[in-house]
Amino acid sequence: MEQLQGEKLKTYVSALADEIGPRPAGHPEEAQARAYLCEQLKAGGIMDIEEFTFPTIDTWGYAMIIPALLVVAGGLIASVGWIGTIIGGLMTLFGLYHLWQATIGRIQYQLLYPLYPKQPAGGMVLARIPAAQEAKHRVVLIGHTDSNKHRLSFSPLFKRGLQVSSSFMLLAAGFLLIAILLNIQVLMGLFTLAVAFSTAVLIVDEFGGFVDGANDNASAVACTLGIGKQAAQQPFQHVEVWLAFTGSEEVGHMGLNAVLNKYASELRDAWFIDFELVGSGRIAYVKRHSGLTYFRPYYPDADSVALASETTRMHPELKVTGENVVILEEVATLRRRGLRGICLVGLDDTGWLKHWHRYSDNSTNIEASALQQAAQFAWSMIEILDRRKS
Ligand SMILES: [Zn+2]
Repeated sequence: MEQLQGEKLKTYVSALADEIGPRPAGHPEEAQARAYLCEQLKAGGIMDIEEFTFPTIDTWGYAMIIPALLVVAGGLIASVGWIGTIIGGLMTLFGLYHLWQATIGRIQYQLLYPLYPKQPAGGMVLARIPAAQEAKHRVVLIGHTDSNKHRLSFSPLFKRGLQVSSSFMLLAAGFLLIAILLNIQVLMGLFTLAVAFSTAVLIVDEFGGFVDGANDNASAVACTLGIGKQAAQQPFQHVEVWLAFTGSEEVGHMGLNAVLNKYASELRDAWFIDFELVGSGRIAYVKRHSGLTYFRPYYPDADSVALASETTRMHPELKVTGENVVILEEVATLRRRGLRGICLVGLDDTGWLKHWHRYSDNSTNIEASALQQAAQFAWSMIEILDRRKS
């Protein structure tokens, strides 16, 4: 299949990661990526294209640091008399709730969200490829256009502590609230200090520049585009394919939410396949997503897992396996909304995503073979659906 050739997919990665470069959510580069995609879709004969635009934050830092600072301030104020205890307690509760929302990817639904500084050029592109005959299934392929920052917390040294540190911050804020309620001054001081330490870590983490995002997630965009072009040339008989190039994923899955809000009823029974960092390593489907803390893992739906495992049986040559992965991505939002969803990823030998939120996430580290493997696996999943009667 010509459009799924790894080298061809790699040219899309280069166009996004090298020619356009880092694509922070809502910055002009993200809009350039959308323009490029619209051009590519039309060139591939895909004319049913819809563009969504919305203002967006460009880093999750706002959604974590501002609530964390509120918790710290709450802890300090709480030690000043009974009025301080009430105000400080409420601030801590409010901050803690926001931190929880941020760690599960619900940034856009934080009460404080309207106050964060916004970038104007956020958005996403949705395209549709009809089935040749009557459509019995709808498949939505997802690849996000935005890229994240180079982060110290994702370095080889610290990444294994990611869940520990986010869980630690939530626990410290939770225990601070309990200490305030019980008015135990020593513990209030201790937990305030712990949250202050976590906040300092979050601030340091914001100092990196934005990365090229070749693997995270131009690789996903490339696979989605390639499958779309192939399906336009060679339509499935009974599967309608939607391509969702979701923007602002790194700051709370905003592009995906925009599509789900608009097409809630059309997508109720759809099959969602999300690609993440599929440009390097061995391709796997995720059986268990850790989330950012130890408190809220999430799982693909049983139908999608059954479809993926059937695909692995029918295509052993693709060498795709099911794995438990440390990740937080758009399947979290899909599953929370009661929808189907499964994620395909590329992993290194130790089971981690490669070049995740690091400067090394550039096109020189992209392997055509991984892109092709991911695209072919997803294509094969759709083929199996296409043969199903209902
Ligand atoms: Zn990503």
